[in-house]
Amino acid sequence: MARTSVDPAPLIVFTHPACAGHDPLPGHAEQPARLQAALDGLGQLDALDLRDAEPIGGERLARVHTAPYLAELDALERRIYSENRAFALDPDTHVGPGSFDAIRRAAGAACQAAEAALAERRSSFAAVRPPGHHAEAGRAMGFCVYNSIALAADAALARPGVERVAVVDFDVHHGNGTEAIFAGRDDVLFLSSHQLPLYPGTGDPAETVARNVHNAALPPGSGSNQFRDAWQADLLPALDRFAPHLILVSAGFDAHWRDPLAQLDLKDEDYFWIGHQLLGLARTHCGGALAASLEGGYDLQALADSVLAFAEGITFEH
Ligand SMILES: [Zn+2]
Repeated sequence: MARTSVDPAPLIVFTHPACAGHDPLPGHAEQPARLQAALDGLGQLDALDLRDAEPIGGERLARVHTAPYLAELDALERRIYSENRAFALDPDTHVGPGSFDAIRRAAGAACQAAEAALAERRSSFAAVRPPGHHAEAGRAMGFCVYNSIALAADAALARPGVERVAVVDFDVHHGNGTEAIFAGRDDVLFLSSHQLPLYPGTGDPAETVARNVHNAALPPGSGSNQFRDAWQADLLPALDRFAPHLILVSAGFDAHWRDPLAQLDLKDEDYFWIGHQLLGLARTHCGGALAASLEGGYDLQALADSVLAFAEGITFEH
């Protein structure tokens, strides 16, 4: 007999074991074990639609990143293999053997997640590392080499009928790279909540920014109420007005109270809440198309728990 009830579609997850191969500086907060922690959280969902993350190609990279920067990275990659050692791109960002396979798949997965969400009108998640939202068009920053979410937005906008894409960033750090790449664009809306003061120091709402940028700064010690108020007062209404064809999410979980790199006090259920708010808007404007990509989150237990809570929020039926 045919089933009459409809089960929720399982979350599409793009990931690859090579994303744990980026380990140029043992002891670094952005550690390989983060990948498994995220997968452990996702593994507690009732069902997953797991797919392989594929490396991004050079033409796609060139649409967001500058030619001199990509040439610098190519030269560095050759030196890594010939000298079999790691190099620093900035004081926080190192690359070594294994890094470029991880970085290419992280960016590739974000693009695949965007394309799958659009094609299948479902939620998808790129469970990958390293993160990407600090990377600018021409430089690496803050653990990030390629700006994966910006590349995903660009890939989405290349599809027929996709005229507007929103990038939502609730990582505790401001997504300076994404903002810089898209500031002034009519086809991309950038929304960010973040702790201030904190690295990288940008994202002060008092600064004059392009019309398509909305920043909400939270002082250290802010918790669930301040976080939800910021989204409800300004960011979610702006997202609703923009009426995007796809919602992309820079999903960082380092505003969690357990995180060692910041001082906000979010709880697991806040990640369910923001996920569910975004799913509601994706259903209203995008036919359900929502694609998230893992950014920060440096306490392994908090990462597993909050990734699970967010994944439940973006797949919840009611
Ligand atoms: Zn972060």
